[in-house]
Amino acid sequence: MRTITILIPAYNEDEVIIKLYQRLDKVLLDLPDYHWEILFVNDGSKDNTLDLIKELWQKDKRISYIGLSRNYGKETAMIAGLDHALGDAVILIDADLQDPPELIPEMVKYWESGYDDVFAKRKCRLGETRLKKYTAAMFYKVLKKVTKIPIQENTGDFRLLDRRCVEALKQLRETQRYTKGMFSWIGFNKKEILFDRDPRVAGESKWNYFKLFDLAIEGITSFTTAPLRLSSFLGGIISIFAFFYMTIVIIKTLIYGESVQGYPSLMVAILFLGGIQLLSLGIIGEYIGRIFNETKRRPLYFVDEYNGKK
Ligand code: UDP
Ligand code: MG
Repeated sequence: MRTITILIPAYNEDEVIIKLYQRLDKVLLDLPDYHWEILFVNDGSKDNTLDLIKELWQKDKRISYIGLSRNYGKETAMIAGLDHALGDAVILIDADLQDPPELIPEMVKYWESGYDDVFAKRKCRLGETRLKKYTAAMFYKVLKKVTKIPIQENTGDFRLLDRRCVEALKQLRETQRYTKGMFSWIGFNKKEILFDRDPRVAGESKWNYFKLFDLAIEGITSFTTAPLRLSSFLGGIISIFAFFYMTIVIIKTLIYGESVQGYPSLMVAILFLGGIQLLSLGIIGEYIGRIFNETKRRPLYFVDEYNGKK
């Protein structure tokens, strides 16, 4: 019998953990042909999440859990889970029931027919503001333009990964992780299934616009150096203009002599160039920051406790 791990990163989810467990339990009843491992990764929750997980762990022998030493963020919680997962396949699912567990049988079916990465793509985003939908759409558009790898639009982390994919992902040890991009980057046999994303059952999203902006920068800078090229491109264009303008100024001065006029054009040139330079410095800084973080070669996370295979 093959084993499938259900991997659930959880941060302050005490309002939904039990509901999630009940719904999962019901779904798994219909799939008796597999060994199931339900692996919770408690990402340093400050509420009762860990206690609830421990209670479930005592009742149900399919459950195991990892407690991380602090809150590291979902991306890191996921790699921690992948490192510990025992299954021949791993299903990543959010704790807040935005990803319906009822999709699992379909994912497993496709896995059985030979796909390595069965991901759920949302048809619509219920319970999300129009602004969030719009910004998400814009972001995907930009990301697709600047990277060369195919990006899966409107796809979260809800997916089934074959062992091959898991082993591949485990080798990508960068500290600043953009897992969504990594799924595409590793390749393998992909299959999409469509679903309606539900609004959160309880509790609230840990994302705010600042964090999303951060993730967007992360997504772009970890998959392409195109922004660096943009500064060279702008630099080139502006230099050409500057050269022509210089020629004009010299010729004009030779013909008409020098005048003290020209304050506006000077200001415009200085401000414009100053802006471009700061922008380019910022872009370079982003990449240097990433280099800095990666060169430290720190472990991605520390485990406080792990209760696996009983
Ligand atoms: N999560 C986590 N660590 C964090 C933030 C979130 O493990 O620092 C988990 C969270 O418990 C949930 C999943 O990541 O299972 C998705 O989080 P959330 O619902 O806040 O994100 P959204 O659905 O709004 O993208
Ligand atoms: Mg959510």
